[in-house]
Amino acid sequence: MKISVDFDLCESNAMCEALAPDVFELDDDDYLVVKVADIGPEHLDAVRRAVAACPRAAISLSGSPQAAGTEE
Ligand code: SF4
Repeated sequence: MKISVDFDLCESNAMCEALAPDVFELDDDDYLVVKVADIGPEHLDAVRRAVAACPRAAISLSGSPQAAGTEE
């Protein structure tokens, strides 16, 4: 699955990083970086929690979950 972040909405409060640190990270300039381009099952629960917790509703998920081991 793909993550999209609306950077016009994101206020860099790091809620998503706290819930899914393997996927989201704020850089030194407090700019949100998505570290994983294609979300597999191992990240899905954490990413869904981050999507639900984002107070700005800036994160969206699209596509179907990848089966484990099929990512490039
Ligand atoms: S939780 Fe939402 S507003 Fe906060 S840093 Fe992540 S995307 Fe931005």
